[in-house]
Amino acid sequence: MKAQDILESEDFKRCAAFHGHVCPGLSIGFRAAHIAMDRLQENRAEDEEIVAVVETDACSADAVQVLTGCTFGKGNFIYRDYGKMALTLLSRNTGRGVRVAMKPDAFKPDEEHMALIQKITRGAATADEHKRFEKLHFRRTCDILEAPVDKLFSVSPAEMELPARARIEPSEPCARCGEPTMPSKMNVVDGRKVCRGCLDRAGVDAE
Ligand SMILES: [Zn+2]
Ligand SMILES: [Zn+2]
Repeated sequence: MKAQDILESEDFKRCAAFHGHVCPGLSIGFRAAHIAMDRLQENRAEDEEIVAVVETDACSADAVQVLTGCTFGKGNFIYRDYGKMALTLLSRNTGRGVRVAMKPDAFKPDEEHMALIQKITRGAATADEHKRFEKLHFRRTCDILEAPVDKLFSVSPAEMELPARARIEPSEPCARCGEPTMPSKMNVVDGRKVCRGCLDRAGVDAE
């Protein structure tokens, strides 16, 4: 499929609207989510709930939420802070599914692109350099959208222990700030339940 057709598809437009801009990272997430969904669909019952596990909190994670319907708020979108472009989609019932991970040699780093990103981040880029960056950034986005699956990702079966569904429990006030808090998220300090926010602040103050 041509990049232009993908950019104009409803699916991609929903991802771009949610994320706020079009970028290479969003495109990687878009491709990964589509591939993972296709593979998972072949092996799972229609009504099984799916869980998405992402290993980076970068741009790609937004496309995953939009396309899979697994969201942070529903508790079926899990973030593991590994700093890797990998997505695992699992069936909640079996804990079995598929992992899609970026190949190490998927794309050669574009040195001009990288240098421009750094210059822009420093606030040191000229108007022409901004334009040049936009062009390279968009070209990379299109390359990712058009690349064959095998070039971008390794796809393998996955199995994972899933965290229990979020429990609904009546809140209790934190002994320090008084804010209603899930008791299972509080720590007992001197025999009283204290929220993690208060403990974090106490930690900062103690430093
Ligand atoms: Zn982005
Ligand atoms: Zn508190």
